[in-house]
Amino acid sequence: MDADVIVVGAGPTGLMLALELRLAGVQPLVLERHGEVRDVKKAGGLGGRILELMAYRGLLDRLQAASTEPVPALRLPFGGLHLDFTVLADPPMELLMLPQPELERLLAELAVEHGVELRRGHEVVGLSQDGAAVTAEVRGPEGAYEVTAPYLAGCDGAHSRVRELTGIPFPGTTYPEIQRLAQTTIPEGVTVLENRDLEVAGVGRIPFGFTATERGVFATGATDPAFLGVYTSEQETEDYDDDEPMTVAEVRDSIHRVLGVDLPLGEPVRLTRFTFHARHAERYRDGRILLAGDAAHLFPSGGVALNAGMVDSVNLGWKLGAAVHGWAPPGLLDTYHDERHVAAERTLLHTRAQVALRRGHDVSADALRELFLELASDEQPLRRIGALIAGTDVRYPMPNPGDHALTGTFARDLPLRTDRGAGSVGELLHAGRPVLLDLAGRSDLLAVAQDWRPRVDTHMAGTDDRPADALLIRPDAHIVWAAALDEPDRTAAPSLRAALSAWFGAPS
Ligand SMILES: Cc1cc2nc3c(=O)[nH]c(=O)nc-3n(C[C@H](O)[C@H](O)[C@H](O)COP(=O)(O)OP(=O)(O)OC[C@H]3O[C@@H](n4cnc5c(N)ncnc54)[C@H](O)[C@@H]3O)c2cc1C
Repeated sequence: MDADVIVVGAGPTGLMLALELRLAGVQPLVLERHGEVRDVKKAGGLGGRILELMAYRGLLDRLQAASTEPVPALRLPFGGLHLDFTVLADPPMELLMLPQPELERLLAELAVEHGVELRRGHEVVGLSQDGAAVTAEVRGPEGAYEVTAPYLAGCDGAHSRVRELTGIPFPGTTYPEIQRLAQTTIPEGVTVLENRDLEVAGVGRIPFGFTATERGVFATGATDPAFLGVYTSEQETEDYDDDEPMTVAEVRDSIHRVLGVDLPLGEPVRLTRFTFHARHAERYRDGRILLAGDAAHLFPSGGVALNAGMVDSVNLGWKLGAAVHGWAPPGLLDTYHDERHVAAERTLLHTRAQVALRRGHDVSADALRELFLELASDEQPLRRIGALIAGTDVRYPMPNPGDHALTGTFARDLPLRTDRGAGSVGELLHAGRPVLLDLAGRSDLLAVAQDWRPRVDTHMAGTDDRPADALLIRPDAHIVWAAALDEPDRTAAPSLRAALSAWFGAPS
């Protein structure tokens, strides 16, 4: 074997997976067809659950240090509208501004620091698998060669060669809309007013936010007040390549078609054009081959794809590690599809709904948007939509649905009092290992976990308002078992033993 896991693609998903595989104690080999990180402007930052997971890995500081811009106020676009989360005292998600090329450079740096072998300029062109291994045919700078490993993960993006070679269907829709996004310096003749409306010489006032017209949608607004941000969405069927550069003239023409206004633009800072797809791989696994990130799912609205792909990697990494080490219980690797497919379906649900919200250009569509905005200004619906965007509203399906209500949910970063002082749940997960957390001095339960000691860490801690007597937490921070408050040993111990076996294999 040349590695434990071959990771195809050094985008955010592949690099995150490689990092998680190293934490799980296995050796990934990352193959990336491009010779270097390309400066294609895609995501401008990260948001949602992945930021919590980065904090739980102790990596958030590195991301924050690399961040280029201040965090903007939490007013997020949603279906051609802006949802204002600043009205909530505790926002439903965090944001971090870090352009995708910088994110990829940093993740690559971290991966190499953790001992990942990353080969740039090496393209996977063929695949085969049998009961024991996967072999990838690779075209590298020095010619063609083959590599073999027990598992291979296709993190190779929307046009995934791995998905194509395994024949996994990728059904869905490509929307006949072109989105254009530009950030430029503020040109002469344009003034950004205090309420963020634009005053344009010879044209008049253009309101901040989204304007729907018969030809499409126009929006103005920028994350950085020093720049002018504009966006258009038009019904077009032309098939642009996402990587084909766009010009300022193309954006101005589009604004002219949509708004009927000749809006001057300044020097370009960021120009992007993209098409939205809603597609979902039927299966995330084919034998020893797995799919993650854009290779597995494409969402027809912005701001959610990076989060979804990187969280896939955190879900998958430890499970692949368990399979390579040989202690994975039957079915563990299949839970990757079961859990992340459900999560992507939730993301597809709201990103598809956003298409319906932003596309209509008649009075009924205006009424739908107005009503939606009215409902979304109430706290509960706003929180709910925030959780959908953040990818935090999912409870993973668990084998015993009657278990404690916390099973399948994400472990909150509870503040803890430990022998070594103050801590938190997130700190216990820095090493990416399973944790049995005893919150009530339950030595009976700690004793049960002794049989899994090489694989499962045990910790005793106190916390205010403990949600349970004990929690069994997976490396990806999901709770798979909990003892109810004061639950007797006679029920808690056997159910803990069953959960340890179901998730972390036979006792050692
Ligand atoms: C214009 C634009 C704006 C976007 N804005 C946002 C945003 O604001 N927020 C957000 O969350 N998402 C955004 N996205 C989506 C986001 O960029 C993707 O979801 C993200 O890049 C997916 O990461 P990935 O690692 O799964 O795939 P990719 O980033 O596509 O990485 C796949 C990697 O695999 C490599 N590869 C492909 N085939 C092979 C092969 N055969 N052999 C070896 N290597 C191969 C590729 O070169 C690439 O490096 C945007 C996308 C675009 C196009």
